[in-house]
Amino acid sequence: MTWQNWAGTASADPARRYWPRTAEAIADTVREAALAGLTVRVLGSGHSFTAAAATSGAALDLSGWTGVISADTKSGLVTVRSGITLRSLNAALDMLGLAMRNLGDIDAQTISGAISTGTHGTGARLGGLATQVAALELVLADGSTVSCSEQERPDLFAAARVSLGALGVISTVTLRCVPAFTLVADERPMPLEEVTARFAEFAADNDHFEFFWFPYGKNALVKRNNLGVGQGVKPFPEWRRFWEYEVMENVAFGGLCRTGRAAPSLIKPLNKLAAATLSRRSYSAPSYRVFVTPRRVRFVESEYAVPRESVLDVLAELRRGVPRLADPVMFPVEVRVAAADDIWLSTAYGRDTAYVAIHQYLGLPYQKYFGLFESIMAAAGGRPHWGKMHTLDSERLRVLYPCFDGFLRVRDETDPERRFANPYLRQVFGP
Ligand SMILES: Cc1cc2nc3c(=O)[nH]c(=O)nc-3n(C[C@H](O)[C@H](O)[C@H](O)COP(=O)(O)OP(=O)(O)OC[C@H]3O[C@@H](n4cnc5c(N)ncnc54)[C@H](O)[C@@H]3O)c2cc1C
Repeated sequence: MTWQNWAGTASADPARRYWPRTAEAIADTVREAALAGLTVRVLGSGHSFTAAAATSGAALDLSGWTGVISADTKSGLVTVRSGITLRSLNAALDMLGLAMRNLGDIDAQTISGAISTGTHGTGARLGGLATQVAALELVLADGSTVSCSEQERPDLFAAARVSLGALGVISTVTLRCVPAFTLVADERPMPLEEVTARFAEFAADNDHFEFFWFPYGKNALVKRNNLGVGQGVKPFPEWRRFWEYEVMENVAFGGLCRTGRAAPSLIKPLNKLAAATLSRRSYSAPSYRVFVTPRRVRFVESEYAVPRESVLDVLAELRRGVPRLADPVMFPVEVRVAAADDIWLSTAYGRDTAYVAIHQYLGLPYQKYFGLFESIMAAAGGRPHWGKMHTLDSERLRVLYPCFDGFLRVRDETDPERRFANPYLRQVFGP
């Protein structure tokens, strides 16, 4: 059966598929695949735009390897089976009175798929999901199981938290969670000029700050989510949540996108219309319900991490370049922030970071837009999101990551025969 990712940008025909339901079965599967001379890849939820999970060898589906193994509500340490989706994880943590401190935009991913590609949300003082990992257990190429944390095998831990499945199968993840908390969401349209002028202030003054900018519109949608402040802010009624996030952001926006795809000359006016109809909303809700919104309109995406101080220059270049493109752009640009971290292949390794993500509606031409974006990002020392579209190879990536060779050394130790290889890993790590 052919495997395909969410965006339809990657597909593969695995020689064998396995659905292990125990840690022993994961190890047996790796051994069995090795005996058959097959490479091994884990399939997450298929939400990477790159072919990170694609394999013609053995595909491990961990959808039967889910749930919480242990939870210590005092320390916040929670160990989960690696196939659990963020949606199930958030619900399970909520029942325990706990939460993930920071999350990305959606919750369809598996925890192991999300950390493996460096999935992140936004927050100038916060890191991505992998920074919330306290320990991991991995099944290595020889079928043995090892655990790692800051104290135990620290090099493996520094490498394995964002490792694209190159070091082994992550079987369990121990997360450092926080007590469940409420976020007060403030979302409002604002002139792009004002957002860029106040970018540093917004990043510093808010727990979670991001904005969306429609390339031909003058307005941006600014989202500021803060922990439990904002007296008088009411919860969102369910009908309003449905209206804003399902109807307006998915059904209505999907309709505009389809119209634009059928008549590309309308894309610029439709884009301006979408920017002009952005509305203000302010509400409070459990954190994970604020972080996550449904994304039903399919698109392709590229995202790069740049040193935070260069983000305004990058955006200015993009603003100059996009109107000159022959093919118009339907989707907004998303800008987020994160704190520097110490995970070797994290896109925020060693530097306070801003993320710029570009999207295009599925079926519309995107190659020139993404090419322009990559050239702007190259000049700014941008690092591509491992799960989103990019063309960089190992030579280019080595320059961007001070610990790139350290990662390759750990890979040589854990997977000398390249049991976990696939074409995408050959692109980014070399032959
Ligand atoms: C609509 C949409 C919204 C998104 N929003 C965000 C966002 O807000 N922030 C962000 O940073 N990214 C975002 N992404 C990207 C997404 O979070 C990442 O691509 C993530 O890796 C997808 O997780 P997955 O479970 O689908 O993993 P997959 O894409 O299936 O796999 C990713 C990689 O992880 C490996 N892997 C999975 N499980 C294991 C395991 N147990 N052991 C070893 N390796 C494993 C796979 O082999 C593969 O290499 C978004 C993507 C989409 C489609």
